[in-house]
Amino acid sequence: MLRCASDPARSRGRRFAVTPAPTRNDFQRDRDRIVHSTAFRRLVYKTQVFLNHEGDLFRTRLTHSLEVAQLARDIARALGLHEDLVEAIALAHDLGHTPFGHAGQDALHECMAAHGGFEHNLQSLRVVDQLEQRYPHHDGLNLSFETREGILKHCSAAHARAIEAREPGGVARRFIDRTQPSLEAQLANLADEIAYNAHDIDDGVRSGLLTLEQLAELPLFAHHQAQALDEHPGLQGRRLLYESIRRLLSAQVYDVIDASAAAIAAAAPPDADAARRAGPLLRFSPAMQAQSSALKRFLFQHLYRHPQVVATTDQAREVVRGLFAAYLARPAELRAEFAQRPDRERAVADYIAGMTDRFALREHERLTGRRLLPGA
Ligand code: MG
Repeated sequence: MLRCASDPARSRGRRFAVTPAPTRNDFQRDRDRIVHSTAFRRLVYKTQVFLNHEGDLFRTRLTHSLEVAQLARDIARALGLHEDLVEAIALAHDLGHTPFGHAGQDALHECMAAHGGFEHNLQSLRVVDQLEQRYPHHDGLNLSFETREGILKHCSAAHARAIEAREPGGVARRFIDRTQPSLEAQLANLADEIAYNAHDIDDGVRSGLLTLEQLAELPLFAHHQAQALDEHPGLQGRRLLYESIRRLLSAQVYDVIDASAAAIAAAAPPDADAARRAGPLLRFSPAMQAQSSALKRFLFQHLYRHPQVVATTDQAREVVRGLFAAYLARPAELRAEFAQRPDRERAVADYIAGMTDRFALREHERLTGRRLLPGA
């Protein structure tokens, strides 16, 4: 283990004191609490890019989170970072996502414009700090500082000041001080990017919205496809796609391991706090960074802005807006614990954000009489 890796024995602790577990360290315990949470189970019915009911084989937020955890653990082990912490952060990183992916978040953010907005990273923290209700004496999962720090990946200056006021020197402090989170948090973030870039190619082709011919225009993919064909002449279809994606994933993982190991060795932070002050140390090489950015641009252009995806996400926005208006007009329709809250708009946003795609569609139809998307 690296000297600058996070160490559960030196954790900054939890908000509420707990008796140490006899066989598990604090980061393992966080991971276990996340896996057993209600929000984690809901990820199985939440959209990544394609709506949950569009096909059984597309990634959902749950399978995405598992892939992120797998990549992040492998890289953590190779680098000597704390695997349990990186796994906990990876499994929790999308807990605050609304139904219908980014379209749902954008719509909810608009609805909440006059009430503090809506942001999924902040919402992930709200889920683990407040919205999960499973312990006798406190709300939330009472996770370690280090896991919560990793969950709060982005945060605006205004939100950071608000969190800092409630929790001085806490998880939002780094957005004010402009320091980094732990190396494990940096790694979970990078693994997220590697995972979705690769699996969105797979889902894109499976959906028929991307073709292997289009992918051949992308240098990173073309390179690995050519190598796959060199080694396996005549390989085609799904096996060629998988072999190319496998190589592309491995190349990015080994690149991150080499570039990050070199950056960590050069900065030589003596401990985890020094690593937070050393600037971002988990990284691609400059050449791979450029390739990865090109891949991301390719997916935006050809997949996320594909007319068929856009048409569906427009409808999804409409569902979220319709739900928001309906609950504000008729708060009694909210689940009791949300209906009782005095912060009405935020309660509505929390309720909608927690929904799975299909529950949101069913509720929308029940409340408005309109069926906007098939399935559910
Ligand atoms: Mg993600």
